[in-house]
Amino acid sequence: MNCDQIEKMLTGFLLGELDDRAGASVRAHVTDCARCRSAVRACEPTLAALREALAARSQPVLVLSPEARTRVFRSGRLRSRIPVRRIVE
Ligand SMILES: [Zn+2]
Repeated sequence: MNCDQIEKMLTGFLLGELDDRAGASVRAHVTDCARCRSAVRACEPTLAALREALAARSQPVLVLSPEARTRVFRSGRLRSRIPVRRIVE
C-alpha cells in the first residue's frame, strides 16, 4: 500500500475500526514510513482529547426524581441526615 491509500485508512485505523488484516497493513506501513508515522503523531492530541471527552460522557450520573429519592430513603438503602418526612413534605 502507498501513503495515499494509508492516509485514507488512517482515521479508521486510529479509531480501531479496521478489520485485523487492514489494521495490520496500516500498522506495518506506519512502522516503516516516517511520513505516515508523523501523520499518526499529529492526530494523537486530537484522539486523546476525544477519548477523554467520551470517557467523561460515559460516567454514570445519578439523578433521581424527588419521588424516587423518597422511595430509596424509605427503603433504608441510603441514609440521610434529613428525615424522610422532611423530604416528603
Ligand atoms: Zn506512508
